[in-house]
Amino acid sequence: MPHARETNLRIPGPTPIPQQVRDVMSSQMINHRGVEYGEMQTAVLENLQHFFQTESDVLLFAGSGTGGLEATIVNTLSPGDRVLAVTIGVFGERFARIATAFGLDVHRLEIPWGHAVQPEQLRNALDQLPGVRAVLLTCNETSTGVMNDLGTLAPIVKQASSPAPLLLVDAVSALGAVDLPMDALNVDVLVTGSQKAWMAPPGITMLGVSPYAWEAHAQARLPRFYWDFTQQRKSQAKHQDAWTPAVTTMFALHEALSMMRNEGREAIFARHVRVAAHTQAGLERLGLSLFAEAGSRSLTVTAASVPDGIDGKSLLRKLRQDHAVVLGGGQDRLEGKIVRVGHMGWVEESHIDEALDALGDVLTAFSPPIEANATRR
Ligand SMILES: *Cc1c(COP(=O)(O)O)cnc(C)c1O
Repeated sequence: MPHARETNLRIPGPTPIPQQVRDVMSSQMINHRGVEYGEMQTAVLENLQHFFQTESDVLLFAGSGTGGLEATIVNTLSPGDRVLAVTIGVFGERFARIATAFGLDVHRLEIPWGHAVQPEQLRNALDQLPGVRAVLLTCNETSTGVMNDLGTLAPIVKQASSPAPLLLVDAVSALGAVDLPMDALNVDVLVTGSQKAWMAPPGITMLGVSPYAWEAHAQARLPRFYWDFTQQRKSQAKHQDAWTPAVTTMFALHEALSMMRNEGREAIFARHVRVAAHTQAGLERLGLSLFAEAGSRSLTVTAASVPDGIDGKSLLRKLRQDHAVVLGGGQDRLEGKIVRVGHMGWVEESHIDEALDALGDVLTAFSPPIEANATRR
């Protein structure tokens, strides 16, 4: 719990880390080819399978979430493969750009920011695009606070053609907080990162790989080396990492996952549902309008529009300087226009209340004089 002078970090990753997890991060290094590391890795992988809700392999790589997205592309596809990239914000766009960088035939389904992709939009796009090898989808678009409904979208992808397209999902800012049963949803590669919902620092990207994705991997011809799934699977079978793992982040992830198992998967999902609703209501109570359309609002990050006449960057600066509360700003074309409150991982209502109280104070300080306010309302 942040006390008076500790920063209340409420950005959508990296997220705050509980003391118990911070403590293990001061541990001495261990032999990454030794028994101790192997036992830790085994426990981490078992716990991850539980939260991914999969029987398939989960692979670990030292790297950020973006590395995980690149790993997904290079391990499953071949030059010239046709992919449909569904972009609803900055991170969907990033996934599409990675695919383009590797010479894939990328077609975008671009959805206006603030909205989720609708089932019929996805169906139409797939109908008009024969021979799609893969669909790139963002589960939770961190830049806009919008969540796509995988439960409805996944079957549309899988029924689009035969053989079915691969369903490659960026769940970097969702998994661990949101109920995303990988196997039940038929997701082929599901990507996340240690610094988002997992109460751990940056440094490890985790990928669930379905049997169908392994088949695709066997045929995939894009160049790969560091991110090679086969190499990593072989090493993990020996309770090792192919390369030098991020040992300190691994200590933290191991501890965080055991805390998560103690709290329980369903309880964690329920807490995120509760805190998301609490955050949305709190922001609206401050007179702000939420950026994401109703019905598609994220369970892990909430974006609100900055009122006209206020510069979002100055607002966040004052919030940090006067109250030690750090919120996210807008990215790309939303720079200065929205604020984003992260609520994934180690978060409860009181953390949010503290941040929103401070935001209320700063908004009052920035607001135009009373008369102008009165005519506006
Ligand atoms: C944070 C994030 C990423 C990128 O992760 P990095 O660790 O910053 O590389 C990708 N996708 C989404 C949805 C994210 O929230």
